Amino acid sequence: MDEAGATPRFLADAMLGRLARWLRVLGFDTLYDPAGEDKELVALADAEQRVLLTRDHHLVRFLRPHHPLLLVAEAPLLQLREVIDACQLHPPAELFSRCLLCNQPLRTATAEEAATLVPESIRMLPGQVRRCPNCRRIYWYGSHTRRMHETLISAIPEWFQ
Ligand SMILES: [Zn+2]
Repeated sequence: MDEAGATPRFLADAMLGRLARWLRVLGFDTLYDPAGEDKELVALADAEQRVLLTRDHHLVRFLRPHHPLLLVAEAPLLQLREVIDACQLHPPAELFSRCLLCNQPLRTATAEEAATLVPESIRMLPGQVRRCPNCRRIYWYGSHTRRMHETLISAIPEWFQ
């Protein structure tokens, strides 16, 4: 990892898409490209000083990324626990601050965007409407996000006390 105290950034290998998604829900900068070749992934992780998350011993042994984190668990939420422990991650100030599809930090949607793009029943919900500046996807705190939030509370209870 970089300087002491800096929040690590990640690159998840092609097998770890669900883990990458959970890390993004928690706001951690996590690249994921299921089509990327192992060599390209390692080169990118090293160039950007990212922790390369993988379950592939061969990748670590033969391609020697600078900052590998070899995960053992098969279940994504247990993998998340391994990353949190190994990298000593701290709870984020807020959830859903990053696009789950393309990893971009979200911005608050304008009133006009919310009015034109979000159904009225959803605009009444608590929480901000956010938009990805890259892929333009809209996010709000609906039933899907609430379920993910509840799953995280079960998986990492000490972060949500
Ligand atoms: Zn996006």
